[in-house]
Amino acid sequence: MGELILGRFPTPRPNAVERDGGSLVWWHMPAETVAAQPRGLELFGAGTRRRPVPVSGKKAAALEKLEIASVQDLLQHYPRYHVDRTQLRTIAELKRLAASEDLGDVQIHARVKKLNRPFKTKTGKLMITGTIGDETGSISVTWFNQQWVLRALSVGAEAFFYGRLGTFGGKTQLTSPRFELVRTGREPFNVGRIIPIYPASSELSSDQLRRLIWDAFQRIGDVVDPVPDEIRKRFRLLRRGDALRLIHFPEQKDDVLRARKRLVFDELFTLQLGLVYRKRKLERTVRGVRHDAPTEDSLAEVFLASLPFELTSAQRVACDEVARDMTQTYPMHRLLEGEVGSGKTVVAVYACLVAMQSGFQAAVMAPTEVLAEQHHLTVKELLDRAFGEDEATNLFAQISKRPVVRLLTGSTPATEREKTLAGVANGDVNLLIGTHALIQEAVAFKNLGLAVVDEQHRFGVHQRKALREKGAVGEPDILVMTATPIPRTLAVTIYGDLDISILDELPKGRQPITTTIAVGDEGRERVYDLIRREVASGRQAFIVYALRDFSDKVELRSAKSEAKRLAAEVFPDLEVGLVHGDMKADEKEDAMTAFRDGKTDVLVATTVVEVGVDVPNATVMLIESAERFGLAQLHQLRGRIGRGAHASYCVLATDLDLDKSDDSAVAVAAERLHAVATTTDGFKLAMTDLRHRGEGQLFGARQSGMPQLKMARVLEHEDMIKAARDLAVEVLDADPELRAYEHIPLEREMRDRFPDQALDVVQSG
Ligand code: ADP
Ligand code: MG
Repeated sequence: MGELILGRFPTPRPNAVERDGGSLVWWHMPAETVAAQPRGLELFGAGTRRRPVPVSGKKAAALEKLEIASVQDLLQHYPRYHVDRTQLRTIAELKRLAASEDLGDVQIHARVKKLNRPFKTKTGKLMITGTIGDETGSISVTWFNQQWVLRALSVGAEAFFYGRLGTFGGKTQLTSPRFELVRTGREPFNVGRIIPIYPASSELSSDQLRRLIWDAFQRIGDVVDPVPDEIRKRFRLLRRGDALRLIHFPEQKDDVLRARKRLVFDELFTLQLGLVYRKRKLERTVRGVRHDAPTEDSLAEVFLASLPFELTSAQRVACDEVARDMTQTYPMHRLLEGEVGSGKTVVAVYACLVAMQSGFQAAVMAPTEVLAEQHHLTVKELLDRAFGEDEATNLFAQISKRPVVRLLTGSTPATEREKTLAGVANGDVNLLIGTHALIQEAVAFKNLGLAVVDEQHRFGVHQRKALREKGAVGEPDILVMTATPIPRTLAVTIYGDLDISILDELPKGRQPITTTIAVGDEGRERVYDLIRREVASGRQAFIVYALRDFSDKVELRSAKSEAKRLAAEVFPDLEVGLVHGDMKADEKEDAMTAFRDGKTDVLVATTVVEVGVDVPNATVMLIESAERFGLAQLHQLRGRIGRGAHASYCVLATDLDLDKSDDSAVAVAAERLHAVATTTDGFKLAMTDLRHRGEGQLFGARQSGMPQLKMARVLEHEDMIKAARDLAVEVLDADPELRAYEHIPLEREMRDRFPDQALDVVQSG
């Protein structure tokens, strides 16, 4: 026999061990489990008496697979859903229900009248049939492949049966009902109640888990409630102990809702508390770079005024927010979120100029070489426009010299790299644009004031940290840009320690993009015609493939082989280019430049063109095997067109027979493609995507700094997130370090829920 011990295992954080009073370790827990971060909420106070819950070794192993290593974990193994078994029916009632075709889950109290000898069906299943009855009648039952039923039941046995009511050959029956034998002196456990259904495994059923949880409840003392009474009452919340009991053993439906509300609140509240706490601590303690406020005739503002278009109001607001942050003494941590094509680059360049005009260096880091090169080009072009091609036309001749901009990627030639690095170190280079190469050790800035990180989702927390540490004078300001649009409340949860600017409007005069779905060769032919027509009127087209090389495993059209075929057979009179991730950097750049300059008409590509590529003359985006791409990816790819003055067309091509709706994989693909075809709203698509793929995805990139959510769902609990955020701000306004007596348990829980040191602010300036 082993046992689960109350409370939690010691964490590697010494003061936590002390505070825990050395809570015990599950007897056979492996070292890595002991070292693991705490999960969920802290349920017990330090002084709680330890009373073990006995479990067999086999069960212990099964529990561990479900990541349950302590009573604490067990009690926070929340039900996935509940089924209502409060109503007991008679067999006569079942027959009436069946007659009116009111089929569904039912439960009855009955006796086994007959059990037939099992037999094999034509499909090889073992079938057990029988009859059960009560005083109002009898009904047949069947089980498939459940031989154990014969051992558990015998004629005359009395039990509660629950299962789905059905009819077979005109006869009413229960199919594979679950049952609980009636034993004298014991109250039925799974009957007449609302039953929680747990995430379970083949070794440990939901019922078994429920029994274990019941045992645990018999042995634990009080569950500590860290939330002050005043807050609890204001938000009409149950006590934590009650919520915990009721989520597992509700008496009525309403209990489940109230319990869930409390537990969701707890997770979100301490999460927000930690995020706001960390942010404020950072603002108080970390020395950043203070930039000068831009004035009307400063570089940054004159740059904006020199643009050939008018800023959208969202862009203007974002620029002001950035400028405001950059003039503070603490470092900016701002997320710039914007729909594809909303014009994030302009805001980024503005921020860079604010840094440069204050005498600091700026850096822009992109996730791929293609994108870094793209940024380099765009920035140079934008600056050329503002400064004129040469010094004579330099608008800024009086106030400054023209900024020096350099590109640094993994494939920058050695001599050029040397020169650039020297310039970065002595301050000659004002703006450095590049890939991950920027955060290598060899790169030493003289006085980095701002770092812009493009397409945040490709960067981990670690890269961000490395970039931060490049600041020689103080922590540089950081502006993170992402084109994966998520609603503000969601962003607050996920990027809670970042401030957020959202570009939620597209520049005026954008041409609409028509999105259609093309099926099979017939659909493809029509798209080829469209491409010919567009090229004939001077436009260009992208054709994107999921794979680079032909693969026999999956019969997908691949970029390389298709580029050949298209050039030779389909568009013999057009210029067809090819770009993919495996090409050398200069080859890639040549292909991109040729396309940008209009030398190629059709660019065959892999997803290297997904982000950032800006060729306003391109009006067709054909995506092959579109079902293979994520929604966000499709939306990104679509964002490569519709950037100029011409109407544009996105075609999602697939070889799936989308009408074959009985195939569930095809049905899902059809639904997703349809979603992309019917909306150009990136926010909407992102939400659809999240619903399809689950929220885990979102947290992936940030995992290392975030506590786990077991009950709360960011998509579902938006209102609660808002309330929790406001409350966190309110509490920390009144008590910044959570030192007040009634906040001590709260402070402890906040610390416990965040991974080690996640809340500690390390001074690096
Ligand atoms: P994204 O937000 O997708 O990175 P970009 O910054 O690449 O968007 O901008 C897309 C295109 O729109 C670029 O060609 C850019 O010059 C142009 N653009 C940016 N802001 C405006 C504006 N306010 N009006 C018109 N065009 C704009
Ligand atoms: Mg961009």
